[in-house]
Amino acid sequence: MRDNMLKLLATLLLLSSYANSEKFNFTNYALYRVTPSTAEELEILNSMLSNPQLDFFEDPVSVNEMVSVVTSPGYRKTFDDILKANSIDAEVTIENIQTVIDNEKHGKYIQRNVQSMTWDAYYPLEDIYSWLDDIAADNSDIVTIIKGGQSYERREIKGVKISHGSGRKSIFIEGGIHAREWISYATVNYIITQLLYSEDPEAQAAARDFDWYIFPCTNPDGYVWTWTDFRLWRKNRRPVGTEFGIDLNRNWDSNWMLKGSSNDPSSDIYAGTGPFSEPEASSLAAYIESVAENMEMYISFHSAGQMLMVPYGNTTDRLDNYEDSVKIARRAISSLTVRYGTQYVAGNVAEVVYEATGASTDWVKEKLRIPLSYTYELRYLGEYGHLLPAEQILPNNEEIWDSVLALIREGRALGYFNSASIISGSFASRSRF
Ligand SMILES: [Zn+2]
Repeated sequence: MRDNMLKLLATLLLLSSYANSEKFNFTNYALYRVTPSTAEELEILNSMLSNPQLDFFEDPVSVNEMVSVVTSPGYRKTFDDILKANSIDAEVTIENIQTVIDNEKHGKYIQRNVQSMTWDAYYPLEDIYSWLDDIAADNSDIVTIIKGGQSYERREIKGVKISHGSGRKSIFIEGGIHAREWISYATVNYIITQLLYSEDPEAQAAARDFDWYIFPCTNPDGYVWTWTDFRLWRKNRRPVGTEFGIDLNRNWDSNWMLKGSSNDPSSDIYAGTGPFSEPEASSLAAYIESVAENMEMYISFHSAGQMLMVPYGNTTDRLDNYEDSVKIARRAISSLTVRYGTQYVAGNVAEVVYEATGASTDWVKEKLRIPLSYTYELRYLGEYGHLLPAEQILPNNEEIWDSVLALIREGRALGYFNSASIISGSFASRSRF
């Protein structure tokens, strides 16, 4: 996604924040779901990408593929006129974004009561971090607090390691690299609770059989900013001239700046001054590398669009173990559908979303040779943008957990996660490539 609107808004916000530290107000900003049905319509949408009055949550890349667009109140009529004049299929899914933000349900975590984090509300960073501490204290035999690095504003990237003993294969999970994608934090936290408290034998086996490294908030500065100042903030918070922020999922040292990235600091997909210029990405990468030896699967959670994707973001070529990865993903999304009928699509990043490089999931695959690397785009299909209603948190979490268990199950069926075969060498996952 690109936007100069955020640039405009950020400038306005910066100006206003000198006067008083108020949240940016999205009154009468509207969310549109627009679906181009011809190459010409696609072209028209692309010509509006840098319009400062619009904020595209996705790049318009394919005919018949919807994109979510935020419009400023002052531009709405013009936008409507353009859509109408060109017969472009569009519907307004949120009339007034501020109303949705005002009604977003915020939870209040009660310290030392891990059950007080519930799945019908969103929680700020300090609550999530307190909860992680309490989770570790309550399960001190198997849970340790881990530090994945530090943010630009020197916040800790805090996570948990869940381990029933050393020498196991490991699975790494990250959420929140894009600050405004609030459902990703809730999803990751829910996975932690299932690994620790579920009575389902398959969940218990998953907890027992792997070392889990889990980080719900990999962009803590950005996340705090979404609570205090600007709900739809995506990047980190490094000042760059008069602009702010680098897209942390374009900053990893894998085909950096090759595709779907920007060298313009005002862009929401600004990739930074070089690979790993940002402490969040570089320190987390160093941590991942330090524990990569037995890592078999890496999962990154984002919103929205209901997709489960495999590397790489720069090509639709079927590289490495593409066939296995996609086969496992397809089976996982059919498990995901069982509970609530939610339909996901699976495929390579470049084929199901748009070309984009410098992402964490490409880096772990390319540089660390982690066999299975997945990116989820969680609910929904454009109705809510990044403002998924709180009543959908639990069903989202449940269906995602079903699918994560299926990734493990189907991975095993194809010879992954198999210590014995590693020893024999014949199925050594790292020699697949
Ligand atoms: Zn994202």
